[in-house]
Amino acid sequence: MFTEKTLKNFANLVLQKGVNLQKGQGLEIVCPVEKSLVAEVLTETAYSLGASVVRVRWENEKIERLFYLNATDSRLTEVPKWLVGARNYLIEENFCYVAISAEDPMAFNGVPAEKISASAIARGKALKKYFDAVMSNGIRWCVVSVPTHAWAKQVFPNAENPEEMLSKEIERAMRLDSEDPVKVWNEHINNLDRHAKFLNDANFKYIHFKNEKGTDLTVGLAEGHKWQSAKERAKDGVSFVANMPTEEVFTAPHRSRVDGVLKSALPLSYNGQIIDNFTITFKRGKIESYSAEKGYDTLCTLINTDNGTKRLGEIALIGKNSPIAKSGVLFYNTLFDENASCHLAIGKAYPTTIENGDKLTKAELKKRGVNDSIEHVDFMIGTPDLTVTGIKDNGEKVIIFKDGDWII
Ligand code: ZN
Ligand code: ZN
Repeated sequence: MFTEKTLKNFANLVLQKGVNLQKGQGLEIVCPVEKSLVAEVLTETAYSLGASVVRVRWENEKIERLFYLNATDSRLTEVPKWLVGARNYLIEENFCYVAISAEDPMAFNGVPAEKISASAIARGKALKKYFDAVMSNGIRWCVVSVPTHAWAKQVFPNAENPEEMLSKEIERAMRLDSEDPVKVWNEHINNLDRHAKFLNDANFKYIHFKNEKGTDLTVGLAEGHKWQSAKERAKDGVSFVANMPTEEVFTAPHRSRVDGVLKSALPLSYNGQIIDNFTITFKRGKIESYSAEKGYDTLCTLINTDNGTKRLGEIALIGKNSPIAKSGVLFYNTLFDENASCHLAIGKAYPTTIENGDKLTKAELKKRGVNDSIEHVDFMIGTPDLTVTGIKDNGEKVIIFKDGDWII
């Protein structure tokens, strides 16, 4: 686990740069019960920064697994009113929240995918208002990770001390291993902003991906799209960083302008199950066919969640020289793996990646090609030989990535 000093740096970085906690603001922390010390340090730091209150929601995957396996069907899809109220409260009271993502990638191995999916769909519908608010930056939020035992064992199965190894990797990926992580993050954000500015100035209509593995995919961009990077602005005007680490520059694809084939570049850990070596074919934006060497049932339930999970909601560019990509470690956690590789997401697009998107109605967003769903799942397609080309409205082509990295 992190040393005391690193943990303090972590808490400061997450609260100041991540959610950018303001004096008098409330904070919610979602934390695995195994890591209560992390929640304690975050709480202490938040109060010292002037939080009005800190509340913690504990998570335990063993109990969640027992729920999936044993709860009756009607309870599996029940979303109690108090739970909906508790989430909406965060929006109404302008809380910010820190979520610690440290799932055991095998937590729900063997649980029927349809049970997990039924429960997720019910939750997605009941909490739609809350998720919509989060996706359009109605509140400030930040997802981060700390090493947990089961997760570390999956990443480093043969290591003597897997947690120690994972801890070092997370420190490096989060740029915590420097004297002044907040300063280092400011520089990092500026660098990402430079790429975003180039893409925005070029105003591409399509992005084309091609590699040896067989990916040959053209992704149209939503009308009025804007490329974003680490720093976002919430509705209250205060900036924040939603993911730490983050290496991506991303925007909204056009829901009906995606054509071709993609091959996954890394395994995807979704709902505690692993999907690997999958192929998806698109026609006019819609998934036409798909296959997977591993986790086909899980991929199938994901794609059939609703109409929006048959289309894309994010396109993100990440160079192969990001610290995470260079580490060569497969984290089995999307927060890290998505930052090692160019990725796409199935499901809802961020309205914040459209000019004035947070002020548009659902119908207006759809007209611009912005996809909607109760899901948003990133998966990785970037390989070290990937070529990415931007195509303008007049047909002009500009190479953005060569051999898996930025050339602009
Ligand atoms: Zn992303
Ligand atoms: Zn995403």
